[in-house]
Parts: sequence; C-alpha cells; structure tokens
Amino acid sequence: MSKVIVIGAGIGGLACGALLAKDGYEVEVFEKNPFVGGRCSATEMKGFTIDNFVHAFPLGGKGPHAAVAAELGVDLEFIVQDPAAMVVDGLNGGARTYPQRLDIRPPMNRFRMAMNMGVKISNLFGVYRLFQRMLKAEEEFIASKDDTTIRDFLLEYTDDPQLHRFINVLSFMMFTLPYGRASAGEFIHCFRDMAGAANFGYVRGSSGAIPEAYRQGLENNGGRLHLGKKVQRILCDSGGVKGIATSEGDVEGDVVISNAGIQNTIAMAGEVNLGGDYVTMAKSLVYSDSAVVVKYILDEPVVKYPFIVYIPDADAEEMFFYTCADNIPQDVYIFMPVIDLWDPGLVPEGKQLIIAGAAANNRPSQGDSHAIIEIMERRIFSLFPGFEEHVTWREEVHAEHIQATTGHPRFADCVGLAQIPGQVGAGKPSPATPVQGLYLVGAEAGARGIGTEQAAASALAVSALVRGGHPL
Ligand SMILES: Cc1cc2nc3c(=O)[nH]c(=O)nc-3n(C[C@H](O)[C@H](O)[C@H](O)COP(=O)(O)OP(=O)(O)OC[C@H]3O[C@@H](n4cnc5c(N)ncnc54)[C@H](O)[C@@H]3O)c2cc1C
Repeated sequence: MSKVIVIGAGIGGLACGALLAKDGYEVEVFEKNPFVGGRCSATEMKGFTIDNFVHAFPLGGKGPHAAVAAELGVDLEFIVQDPAAMVVDGLNGGARTYPQRLDIRPPMNRFRMAMNMGVKISNLFGVYRLFQRMLKAEEEFIASKDDTTIRDFLLEYTDDPQLHRFINVLSFMMFTLPYGRASAGEFIHCFRDMAGAANFGYVRGSSGAIPEAYRQGLENNGGRLHLGKKVQRILCDSGGVKGIATSEGDVEGDVVISNAGIQNTIAMAGEVNLGGDYVTMAKSLVYSDSAVVVKYILDEPVVKYPFIVYIPDADAEEMFFYTCADNIPQDVYIFMPVIDLWDPGLVPEGKQLIIAGAAANNRPSQGDSHAIIEIMERRIFSLFPGFEEHVTWREEVHAEHIQATTGHPRFADCVGLAQIPGQVGAGKPSPATPVQGLYLVGAEAGARGIGTEQAAASALAVSALVRGGHPL
C-alpha cells in the first residue's frame, strides 16, 4: 500500500490527507504549528471563538468545502443571510449605505445592484452586458480572459467610475489583489460560480470549524496528525521521493504532498532535485498582497449588520496603490464580518465580536501596518457611533503574523500565488513536481477559486491525481 506523507495541515494539506485516508491510503500529516488550519484557523478565548485572521466563504455550502466534507462524511454547516452584506460607500467623505442582495441572478436584483452602486443611467446597458457575459461565461471564454486584467476586461463594457470602484473592492476581497493586477479569467470564473451558488456567508463554529472537520475526517479514517512537527527536508533521489526528515528522525513514504508552498517545497527538497527550469519558474512567481486585521470585543452589540464592506474615498485607479508603494493612503477599504450576527454560539451572550481587515503590503518590512490600522480604525469608529466606547478588548494582526503562520520565506501573502495574468488557469503551476511522487497542494497549485475554497478544490484535484498515479 502506498504510504502518503503530507507536509502542512492547512486547508489544502488536511483535506487532501483526509480524502486519501478515506480512500484507504496510509496517511501521516506533519504540521509545524500547534494548531490545524494554517491561515483558516481560530482560537478559543474566554468563551469566544475567534478567527485567527478574517474570513467569509463565497460558495459556502455549495462549494468545495462542502464537497470535501460530504466525501468525508463529516458535518460542516454554512450560514447565509440576505442581504449578504451592507456596502458603505465613502465617496467624497460620505457614508452612503446600501444592501447587497445574496442572489443576483434575477435581473431586477442586478439592476438594483447597479443603481445602488451609483452607476450612471447612460452606463446601465454596458453594465448589464458585462454581468450577463460573466454569469453565462463558458470555460473557453474564461480561459481566453486569463491573461487580461479585470480592469481591462471591464473597459470592454464600461468605464463607469462607480462600477470600477465596486469591482476593484470585490477583486481585493476575492484575491487580495487590486483589479488592475488580478486576472479577468479568474475573476469571471469566481463571479459566475459565486452568483450561481448564491451561498456567500460564514461557517457555523468559526473558520476553524473547517479544518476541524477535515481533521476529524482524517482521524476517522485512520490518518495520523502530528502537530508542532516541522518538516526539515524532503528526502529524494533520482528515483523520486523517499520520505521526509524531521528533528526527530526520518519518515519513509512513497508519496509526499506539500502544503508548504512552492518556495518552501523547493528549499526542503533541494534545488538540484527539482531542476534549474523548475527553480527559475518558481522564483519568478508573484504572491498575493497582504492584510492587516483588528479583532474587537464589545461589551454590547453596536453594529447590526452581519457583514460590512467599506469602499474607500478614492477612485478605482488609486485605491490600492499603497500596497505596492510606501505611501500611506487617505482612506482604506474595509472587510468586516460581525461574528455574533453569523453564529451567536461563538460569543458570550450580550457581547459583540467584530473582525476588520484592510489591504497591506505583502513584504512585512515595507508596509506601515500601524498607519493602515489607524486609518481603518478611525473610519470604523466614525461609521458606527458608540463602537469605540464599547470596545473592551482588541488585538491586531500584522503581515508578520500571516507570514509566521504560513512559514513562507519572503512574503506575507493572504492567499498564496497571486491570481494574475500568467499565473492562473493553464499558467498555474501543476501540482505534480519534477520529482516523482512529490506533489503540491493548497492555494498554490492545481485549482481556481477564492482563498480557502481554492485550497479545498486543490485538495480534491490532487487526491484524484495521487489516486491515479499511485494506486492502492
Ligand atoms: C487576512 C486574511 C484574510 C483572508 N480572507 C479570506 C476569505 O475571506 N475567504 C477565503 O476563502 N480565504 C481567505 N483568505 C485566504 C485563505 O486563508 C488561504 O488562501 C488558505 O487558507 C490557504 O490554504 P493553504 O492550505 O493553501 O495554505 P496554509 O493555510 O498556508 O497552510 C499551510 C500549512 O503548512 C504548514 N507548513 C508550512 N511549512 C511547513 C513545514 N516545513 N512543516 C510542517 N508544516 C508546514 C503551515 O504551518 C500551514 O499550517 C484569507 C487569508 C488571510 C491571511
């Protein structure tokens, strides 16, 4: 029987290991952190369950998380609400607030969405054509737009400034990348599927419930999980992969699946084993931008909407310039789930738990996390009177914390590889590496999609690949 070793218990690694254990493979998962889930993890604190970062789930119960859970026979419940979000547009120093409906398939809901955004009447037809094209996109059309940016794709339909501001924020929410850099093909794929599912929301039990369900799936099927065990090297020779080395000794395996990211995987396996062309390709890869996050506990509920998206007072072109430069913006985009309004079970009665995130530079040494947090916090306090007075606890997450969680050597990327032209669809690295039996899994290989859902989709694809290449 093939013995499978998985490096990393993020969404990709844990789901892939669990799926293979379910198939009957002998699976051992090694995770350097003392907890599962990587970037999609949570912590318990005095009756609260608090996401380590900040998450929402675009396809929810109709996406790859639900597909993995169904295959494993474990419980995972997603929660939806309609409206799915309240959008606050800060244009010209204002705070125009409007609801975003969960289901935008009915044409009337899309019409209202465009009117709410503030699209000019003369641009409505272009916006209608754009939405129609995206909702009905076939795979061929999506692939034809992989190497175009979202911004350039939108310009084929409309230059409406409000539509551009809205889609730029949506692009950052989906990919942690502004629309001038993100791939239109990837965006159309995700937009089409998200609209088709009409299931955007949160997960019962916190973001950490997803890796916990996968952990259960692994252990129920005889897989073994080692927490706090960092893999130091991947053992291989010209015949392929042989196993891994940890500080406590070597472990043999026929298949090694790495959830540690391409750069780490190369470092662990040795450049010489992967070959010059592969190493050159990997070194040229670009990573997604990062985020700063602040978590707040309030001693009474102040915010009454479950999910807030704030569009900053900036035009589309300039909104995210600061994530690649060292200037400080005047105003920042904010992504803010109000956790108790999704799952009251995560918060003691009468209290409120809010997590807010804003865009940041992915090189921790370069951005100014404190300045961005200050701008974000000032905006939140001004939008929600009483918020500041009721805060009893707050905790900041900077790009460094994200990097420490993943262990990525150079970047504090939120998602993984940047979903930019050249790095998506056919341009995305294959999960199969040049070393026989060594695979990649997670947000860096093998699937399209948004963040955690992309990692779960990768797990489904990679487990099938391993099944095909290494039959039981
Ligand atoms: C602030 C923030 C907001 C986000 N918002 C969303 C959102 O709203 N929706 C969404 O779907 N996604 C979101 N994401 C993205 C999403 O969390 C990630 O894309 C996804 O979780 C990546 O999963 P992964 O399995 O590819 O990798 P990871 O989560 O990075 O897991 C990799 C694991 O490998 C382990 N590892 C690395 N090296 C070793 C080693 N040598 N030995 C042992 N273990 C090792 C790491 O410790 C880690 O646990 C967000 C991320 C952040 C940071």
